[in-house]
Amino acid sequence: MPTNSVCFKDLLLQQTATRQLASSVANGRIAQTYLFAGSESVGRMPAARAFAALLQCESPLSGDEHALDACGSCESCRRIANGSHPDVSVVTPDGTEIRIDQVRALQENAALKPGTGRWLIFILDPADRLNQSSANSLLKILEEAPSHVVFILLARETGAVLPTVLSRSEIVRFASPSPAEIRAALVEHYALSEADAARCCALSGGRPGQAFVLAQTVPADFPQPGLKSSHAEFLIALEQASRHWQEVFATARSLEEALRFAARPGREFFIPLLAVRREFCRSLAMTAGLPAAFPMLFADMLIDRLDSAARAMQKSFDSLLVDARKAYPAAVIKEFEGNLDSLLGGWPALQLEETLLCLLNWYSDALKTASGADETLLLNLDHKEDIITLAEIDGIALLRARIELLENSVGLLRRHVQPVLIVENLITQIGGLEP
Ligand SMILES: [Zn+2]
Repeated sequence: MPTNSVCFKDLLLQQTATRQLASSVANGRIAQTYLFAGSESVGRMPAARAFAALLQCESPLSGDEHALDACGSCESCRRIANGSHPDVSVVTPDGTEIRIDQVRALQENAALKPGTGRWLIFILDPADRLNQSSANSLLKILEEAPSHVVFILLARETGAVLPTVLSRSEIVRFASPSPAEIRAALVEHYALSEADAARCCALSGGRPGQAFVLAQTVPADFPQPGLKSSHAEFLIALEQASRHWQEVFATARSLEEALRFAARPGREFFIPLLAVRREFCRSLAMTAGLPAAFPMLFADMLIDRLDSAARAMQKSFDSLLVDARKAYPAAVIKEFEGNLDSLLGGWPALQLEETLLCLLNWYSDALKTASGADETLLLNLDHKEDIITLAEIDGIALLRARIELLENSVGLLRRHVQPVLIVENLITQIGGLEP
């Protein structure tokens, strides 16, 4: 399966969305603003690139699945595939938000004529990160933009954008495929065995995009850490991940390269972390007294380790900057510093969020089992016996309460509440839950 295909036919598990987009081009009914609504890693960005490619393609093809599809091989398609098309821009958050000066720059660009293509296309990824003033500023641009401009807004849900922006948008909904659908796609399109597909799907946390990346990079054997020592191994795996980043910064040939690495991690390295984290969360979920398994002392150690890893990564980036200062203008350095600061600063919270989501997935599997759902709906299908045991021990009410607590904690993390407060609160409350 090609990784950077710009053709709808290569996008897996999103046919309803891609067919809707293909027909809008085939019928000549192209909206000015599209809102791609769906979870992360379900294929919104690849679909945005494929849609942009179809709009700009020199010789689109008609197909069975899609009314029209990009050819994938003309100059325009190739440039979109490698991210160098001058008329297709992606706007991503500067730090944690898409800021007003970024939207102002977009406004200036939207007033220009397309260079080589027919359309000027702007992809906002994710539009959930527009702040109040940049969202208002975007609305003005949408109202005034010339007809050759197309905006594609990516968001988790339609409620994430202003109602006034929403009412001007054509909504394209992206489904969240079930674990069974993801496993089937891994077997069919990546030629994985059932067992490898099950582990890839579980390691991805049920995120199809990540599962497809894992399918291409994953070694035949996943690491299988011992369950007993999973606390210690989890801390070690986090430290190794951080050390990997320090090496990346130490060997990066340019700031751009360092930033590119930081923004899109080499997933293959994280397979050990993914595997160890899953084992750690399994051991937590399987321990009858959860507060005892996750004592405050360990929580403090975990947060402390995450913070010091982020500081170490920052330090190695700073030494890269020392050399770069001579080669880049001060304004460029400042921008890179800002981007890296927010990426590295967000690292501890991100790791904690991934851990809570991973734990949540075990409880969620157990809840499905306790509620009598079909086993094909399980994410951690390769540990079916454990899930059945967990379902029997905890029961529906306790599982629901734990899931709700974890969901609330993830919500707080995403609203930038301090990780240490969230973990302390979580441990205190989870101790109060009774079967
Ligand atoms: Zn083409």
